[in-house]
Amino acid sequence: MNKLSTVIDTEGAEAALAALDAVVKKYINMIVDGCDCSLCESYRERVEKARAALANMTSDAVIFSDVEKTAAEVAEEIAAEETTEAHGNGFRVNAAAVINTFTVSEAEDMAQIREQLYDAPLFCSLSARDIYKKRAPIMYHLTNGAEVLEAMAVSVSDYFTRFRRQLEIALNDLYHETTYADWMELIRFWRNDSIIRRGILENKIAPEVMEAFSIRSPKFSKHLIKTFGEKSEIVKLFNDRPKAADIEKQTAEVVEGKKVIVSNLASNVMKMTAGNDFSSCQDYTYDDISDLGYLQKLPSAVHDETMSIAYLVDESDSYEHPYMLARVLISPLEYNGNLFYIGFNLYGNNGNAEVLKSSLKNLYGERFLFADDMYNTENMHEWEYSYDYKLRVDFEYEEYCYLCEGSGEVTATVRYHDYEFECECPHCEGKGRECGEYGDYPYVNNASFVRYGYYRKTTYADKKVLDAILTAEAYGGNDLFSFEAEA
Ligand SMILES: [Zn+2]
Ligand SMILES: [Zn+2]
Repeated sequence: MNKLSTVIDTEGAEAALAALDAVVKKYINMIVDGCDCSLCESYRERVEKARAALANMTSDAVIFSDVEKTAAEVAEEIAAEETTEAHGNGFRVNAAAVINTFTVSEAEDMAQIREQLYDAPLFCSLSARDIYKKRAPIMYHLTNGAEVLEAMAVSVSDYFTRFRRQLEIALNDLYHETTYADWMELIRFWRNDSIIRRGILENKIAPEVMEAFSIRSPKFSKHLIKTFGEKSEIVKLFNDRPKAADIEKQTAEVVEGKKVIVSNLASNVMKMTAGNDFSSCQDYTYDDISDLGYLQKLPSAVHDETMSIAYLVDESDSYEHPYMLARVLISPLEYNGNLFYIGFNLYGNNGNAEVLKSSLKNLYGERFLFADDMYNTENMHEWEYSYDYKLRVDFEYEEYCYLCEGSGEVTATVRYHDYEFECECPHCEGKGRECGEYGDYPYVNNASFVRYGYYRKTTYADKKVLDAILTAEAYGGNDLFSFEAEA
């Protein structure tokens, strides 16, 4: 080998080195620490392959012509893999939306479940160990590898909707300051969407409207200031209005004072039903035996390692004893090596469910689907998850007999003779207590997209929808609600 060819070959080798180095970095970033899901396995394999090729190239023993061949081969192989795996993009978390992550030990998680069980008289025979299951590795893609991830609460809305919402608040403030007749006149004007719409868009009120409401200036702004005052929030919002064409454009805004928690804690999954801002049929604090028909599904939900939870709370709240303002359960779904999640059983009042939804879209993009927005088609993709344990958690209950109230005896009356006597309780046969056994699979509102069997769970989504999301990603991945944090 002469000197000249060595120089040329070294340049080629440097380019190949840089390409392989980029491959290593790319896939290392996509691996979730400690995760042994199939996605992470495939990323790890790619990193190993590129690293092996790198080691090969930097080894002195290798002849340069061989190096170039190896580099070309490796590049080709990686390109081929990218094609078979659709677009090679794993599930991603929008770093700009993340506030914090927390690592929580199993012991802490179990201790919290035990604490919650004190409020669950019907689950008295369940120990935390029976109910507890650590979440599966695949769920840790949601939380950057930690148990808990906190993210910004984001509200997605258009200006017109926000304006009307603020207008409602302004009107409520005026309610106490006006007579009933004046109030009726006010809402007749200000709750008229077409008037407001034309007023905001064109800053002009139609002559016939002016006449009907005895308005002097055709300028909407003047009428707004006259009614609500120059320093009112509604006037400030009006002054910040976008261009007419953007009045109905959807934009994301941070919701101050609230945050979203995504949690792989079994104790948080258990908390989904009780002591929150909304009520759920599976509230474990119920103590009426007749509620067991619903409650029997909750232990299995807590036990399901592929069920995580996301919820909206006040900013000052924590994952330890959250007061949930809204919540959604989460199950995974893989499609051609691409990871998706389905949010189901969404609860929350006063727009909180909507805030939770848009916050998760902002955090995860289109890879996070909501069962509420999905349709059952003839083109469904099925993904199956197998448990190596029995998902269904059975539990026993024991209560004082309702008839004899625990004494085992009842007083019977012989009619017409007005004669009473004590006898063995016919309901409990003198035992004074009654026992039963319960257990079922987790409760699912949107049963078409998440289903349970004996040792498995199946999640479903329309292939066309999944393909469309992957295609959009390939063309720049402009997520609808992508949001950049302000510095
Ligand atoms: Zn993984
Ligand atoms: Zn009895």
